[in-house]
Amino acid sequence: MALRLPRDALVPLLVLLLVVVHATDATQRLEMVTSSAPARGGAGAGTTSRARVAAASCASWRLGVETNNIRAWYSIPAACRGYVSDYMFGEQFRQDCAVVAREAAAYAEGLALAGDGREAWVFDVDDTALTNLPYYADTGFGAQPYNATYFEEYVANATAPALPEVLGLYGKLLALGIKVVFITGRHDYEREPTVKNLRSAGYHTWEKLVLKPSSLGSSVVPYKSGERQKLVDAGYRIVGNMGDQWSDLVGAPEGDRTFKVPDPMYYVA
Ligand SMILES: [Mg+2]
Repeated sequence: MALRLPRDALVPLLVLLLVVVHATDATQRLEMVTSSAPARGGAGAGTTSRARVAAASCASWRLGVETNNIRAWYSIPAACRGYVSDYMFGEQFRQDCAVVAREAAAYAEGLALAGDGREAWVFDVDDTALTNLPYYADTGFGAQPYNATYFEEYVANATAPALPEVLGLYGKLLALGIKVVFITGRHDYEREPTVKNLRSAGYHTWEKLVLKPSSLGSSVVPYKSGERQKLVDAGYRIVGNMGDQWSDLVGAPEGDRTFKVPDPMYYVA
């Protein structure tokens, strides 16, 4: 025989059910954020930094990465692979890039330009002007360790698409008369495929394309800030600086304004 409840008992019962479900969900989320143990299927054994990364929820972890609060990580938590994949191929990444490009364009359009052709905008190349999503989609969206050999093959193929929002900004900057300078962590021996790739992706002109001398070490900040200083010494005024890594943006002279393109897939010191 079916259980019959008085009609006026149904509402309190439903409310109680919702409270229990919500509390369980909230508890699980809280445990995920506050747990000192690596998340299930997480980054596993490794540095203290990696353990901290694995303890955060994927959304909190992404926020920490983008704000430069989480540093010196080597791969995304394995538990966040699906999250990062969904983000990179989803609407949120597009919207986040659009906000960056829109703010940068509004800022550039509001500048009182001298009109002497010495205002410059610095762009990073990988995952800023060009997107390496095809490479990262093949390698677990940063969940697998960086594969230098495979990445060099990818660069040599010169097939990276433009990040559409950055390409749109690039066109606006050129129309304003701002000179574009690319400063990339790619090595100088990769100039030919890099030029080919930038052109095929729609970047048809630039003032300078600076690639890293092979003799330099791996640290990006001294190299990139040093190259920006050379621009300033040559009489350029760096009005904007855009990159997907904080190491693209920090280190004097940073440029009058910096713009961070979202990139939750890897960290470059
Ligand atoms: Mg980059």
